[in-house]
Amino acid sequence: MVFSWLRSRRRRNLLAEPYPVRWDIFIDRNVAHFKLLSSPEQDKLRDITRILIAEKRWQGRSGLFVTEEMKVTIAAQAALMLLGDDHGYFRRVRDVFVFPTEFRTPRREDDWEDDFLSETPLAGQAVYRGPVLLAWDEVHSEGTNPAKGTNVVIHEFAHQLDYVDGLSDGTPSLGDRALESRWREVLNAKFEEHCRAVALKRWNPLFTTHSADNEAEFFASASEAFFCSPAQLKQTYSEVYQLLAAYYRLDPLMWYVGHR
Ligand SMILES: [Zn+2]
Repeated sequence: MVFSWLRSRRRRNLLAEPYPVRWDIFIDRNVAHFKLLSSPEQDKLRDITRILIAEKRWQGRSGLFVTEEMKVTIAAQAALMLLGDDHGYFRRVRDVFVFPTEFRTPRREDDWEDDFLSETPLAGQAVYRGPVLLAWDEVHSEGTNPAKGTNVVIHEFAHQLDYVDGLSDGTPSLGDRALESRWREVLNAKFEEHCRAVALKRWNPLFTTHSADNEAEFFASASEAFFCSPAQLKQTYSEVYQLLAAYYRLDPLMWYVGHR
């Protein structure tokens, strides 16, 4: 209780400071979603961005120095996910590690407790109860072009939301039994459908083959589609769209069809 009171006071003080207006240049340049938002949403996104930048520890890896522009570009994309519900500002994530480009790290799948580096170079990774790792070149190219349909920042932070309840199972904590059971039913059915389509090499390109690995990957990819290709997601997986809209308390399709 005391901690949460202190935290809210710190946030209030932070937001009472003048907004660093130069951040708008970075957001304008690198976060294409920003222009789609209504003006109150833009203000909210600025606030969330400030909180995420202040509360996370930002570290460069592989010789990269994390600039203010990088922090703003990453935090503003993650902030899109918190516009409807703040989800505790990704409270469990203390560190964001930024690499210049694709990187290899020890991975859970490859026994990541030991020191062997992953065989596969990664653009992002979300460590359970740990940091988010991101490749800056990928963050930048997807931030400027949501039409690509993929977004590594949204993907990795979606994993972190999934981890909050202690399980990496594609079902984040929803705080509602009925919604949770519907979620499992719908997401699992769609996940299995996707796995079958991948096996037949006829999958919907909204989802990658990687999202057939498990339900957690499917949820992370569905979140990317929700924010980057909402029209296609709603058209082809309308129940998944509706569940994500209930969870994020957002309707990103409105951003794309225009409501200003
Ligand atoms: Zn993933």
